[in-house]
Amino acid sequence: MRTLNIVLGDQMDRNSCLFQDFDKDNDAIWMAEANGENTQVKHHKHQIVMFLSAMRHFAREQKELGRTVFYHRLTADGREDSGKELGQLLEAQLNSQKPESVRVVRPGDKRVLKMLQSACSKFDLDLDILEDTHFFTTPKDFADHAKGRKSLRLEFFYRELRKRFNFLLDSDGEPLGGDWNYDQDNRQTFGKDGPEDVIESPRRFPPTDIVAEVQKLVAERYPDHPGKVDNFALPVTPEQAQELVEDFLEKRLKKFGDFQDAMWEGEFFLYHSRVSTALNIKLLHPEPLCRKVEEAYHKGSAPLNAVEGFIRQLLGWREYIRGIYWHSEEDYHQQNFLEHNEPLPEFFWTGKTDMRCLADVLKGVQENAYSHHIQRLMVTGLYCLLYGVRPSEFNDWHLATHCDAIDWVSTPNVIGMSQFADGGLLASKPYCASGNYINKMGNYCSNCRYDYKEAVGDEACPFTTLYWDFLRRHQDRLKGNTRLRLQLNNLKKKSSETLEEIEKTAKNLRS
Ligand code: SF4
Repeated sequence: MRTLNIVLGDQMDRNSCLFQDFDKDNDAIWMAEANGENTQVKHHKHQIVMFLSAMRHFAREQKELGRTVFYHRLTADGREDSGKELGQLLEAQLNSQKPESVRVVRPGDKRVLKMLQSACSKFDLDLDILEDTHFFTTPKDFADHAKGRKSLRLEFFYRELRKRFNFLLDSDGEPLGGDWNYDQDNRQTFGKDGPEDVIESPRRFPPTDIVAEVQKLVAERYPDHPGKVDNFALPVTPEQAQELVEDFLEKRLKKFGDFQDAMWEGEFFLYHSRVSTALNIKLLHPEPLCRKVEEAYHKGSAPLNAVEGFIRQLLGWREYIRGIYWHSEEDYHQQNFLEHNEPLPEFFWTGKTDMRCLADVLKGVQENAYSHHIQRLMVTGLYCLLYGVRPSEFNDWHLATHCDAIDWVSTPNVIGMSQFADGGLLASKPYCASGNYINKMGNYCSNCRYDYKEAVGDEACPFTTLYWDFLRRHQDRLKGNTRLRLQLNNLKKKSSETLEEIEKTAKNLRS
């Protein structure tokens, strides 16, 4: 064999650069379902169903194209498969096929890359790493951008990419509408009556033959993992993913911008596209998707704030986050600037809490392996930040429970953005807020047994107590942060008696 081409579970890219010079007579594809990848953290059943189903569909398609595919399958009882880790499975493959070379598109997880490299080195092979053409940029592009900069903020990288890829520019190369960023227009709330129109759930996909087979396997082999298999409805082929895009363009994009930060009890998707999972396993390519979204603006079917907001997420934030992932130190996962070491509260796994906001978001996570952007940042993420959960533990929970969470995207978002554990490499301030923010952006508080305004007493909202306690605990560490000045000044207005009460209440919450 000339070349063994490794295709990982998040690389379901029909146009992968692996296939540009693929020789059917001499090359082969290798794919493996490895038990350790499902149990390394206790992955949600939907996540396992999605990965295994998409992989099996992809392998079937590649075989139909006449390509040789070596595929290691998991089985329901684990008796027929070897139960080995990904690296060990690769070693066994290299031992039996003895290829002249091995290559892979850059994995989305540094741990996996190391595992593959180590397996190859045992056979005196260098693993050839190809840059992923699925993304707009490469890690080198980001490193070039970062050179000589004191801080790495999204905005400058985003503007560079808008110009380089010609998105939303006028004939002079200036941003359409005059501004690069319309985020300030994307913070509307629904008012007390909730969303005006009925929001249908995003398109659901009935199980294919492969999905049905995998659902059975996952139910039997991973019964104690979060979630249920039978309500799995995510796309597992590029055609299905495309249907999800059409659903978004037709029903959601128009209001996506306005209500990007809004929340409403029992509405787990609102106007969000829910394409992140299909994108992150490469069933969709971001460039044609962004072009379609831009086209909607030019046709007059979506406003600029919605279109710019969506393109900023994909062209800006997604590429920036990946850049940070490859640019950051090896220990980025373990960073803990605020020295938070509390264990993750058990109710994150069970959903059993009387905090109405958290109970609803966690219910959505259990049901759908998903929560939308503001729920992640300002409900689950905020609670962990204020409570003082060890950031790596919250990241493990996020990796385990959200279908779109792959290491390159989860780790910088959780460690940097949500938990401020990198000390400000990524975010310019910790996203700390009290129950007041949650009350403003949705309707959770009106039905909650707690009072979002109270920090102490029987009805004190845990978010509000922990918010003031967070500022109290970290005021010295954060006093140089100008974006927190107002919040820290408000803290100074509290009497020492009140602060003592808050500290006591926060301690009780943690115990
Ligand atoms: Fe959440 Fe506090 Fe509002 Fe209850 S009062 S829903 S705990 S923010």
